Amino acid sequence: MSCRGGPDAWARCSVRDEKIMTRVHILGTGGTIAGQGATDTSSSYRPGSVMIQQVIDSVPGLDQLAEVTGEQFAQVSSQDMNELLWQGLANRIDELFEAEAADGIVITHGTDTAEETGYFLHLTVKSSRPVVLTGSMRPATSLSADGPLNLYNAVSVAADLEARNRGVMLAINDDLHSARDVTKSSTTDVQTFISPGAGLLGTARLGRIRYYRRPVRRHTLNSIFTAGNEGRLPRVDVLYAHAGMSPDLVRASVSLGTRGIVVAGVGNGNVPGPVVHALREAVEAGVRVVRSARVGNGDVERGVELDDDALGFVVSDQLNPQKSRVLLQLCLAHHLDSSAVQNAFYQY
Ligand code: ASP
Repeated sequence: MSCRGGPDAWARCSVRDEKIMTRVHILGTGGTIAGQGATDTSSSYRPGSVMIQQVIDSVPGLDQLAEVTGEQFAQVSSQDMNELLWQGLANRIDELFEAEAADGIVITHGTDTAEETGYFLHLTVKSSRPVVLTGSMRPATSLSADGPLNLYNAVSVAADLEARNRGVMLAINDDLHSARDVTKSSTTDVQTFISPGAGLLGTARLGRIRYYRRPVRRHTLNSIFTAGNEGRLPRVDVLYAHAGMSPDLVRASVSLGTRGIVVAGVGNGNVPGPVVHALREAVEAGVRVVRSARVGNGDVERGVELDDDALGFVVSDQLNPQKSRVLLQLCLAHHLDSSAVQNAFYQY
């Protein structure tokens, strides 16, 4: 075996001049990328219908990028994703990397909650190797299906040594996002994913990859969080604020046994006065309260219109409500106190 130098030389080794291909393992979870409609122009379809091997076989040229293998991990629409599946995915990915069975992982996923699964994995996977989610807005059977090129680009990133140490990513519609920052912004447009504030990690177009930055917040190997045993994440509810919001929902959530509440607040994470009182009662009852925002962009800051120190609230910094819920669940699972939870929102 002969190898050229450099820290990643193993990937450029050759055995009797044969190139060793990078191994990319694809975990299929369903979604529209595996969706099937009655015809190629039908507007209705069933997500999670086509098996992952069929999805892989529909993409020409993957074998030029990497040695690709597939596994049907789940077959759901991503609105049916849950914590059990998140934990199972994180544990499976760690297992594959520990067994040296893959150099990079791609996860095909529905677009609706890809940002939540991605952020959970970003916080819990214990490897510097690339983990790349992808999906599509049009089903596999559609005219101009976007899934095949998205999968091609995702595999190219997962096979790239330069993709290491960038945490979990989403490769879609030629863009490369950090799982921490990305969010779905349009219900139907193919160009639906954006990373408000932070911007793209890079681009990946027909195998040509450009990186613009690395995530600076903690993730993967630098994260204290572990996925844990399946099914053991504490309950956290997200409550959507609006003019005239009733405090009853806060009290209902507490009486149903929630351990945490994330409010999707108006503006800078605000809620009406009666809701502030109910949230304070929740804190006194041992429930962690995080103020996030329904706005979709910008920070939620401590102590602007509310005295968060006196009220015992945590602010979400830049995390949207659904990602705040993921981080708060992990904080609760790891028994962090209120100030440690606030620090986690500043650090992750
Ligand atoms: N509802 C689908 C899902 O998230 C939508 C999609 O994949 O684009 O599974």
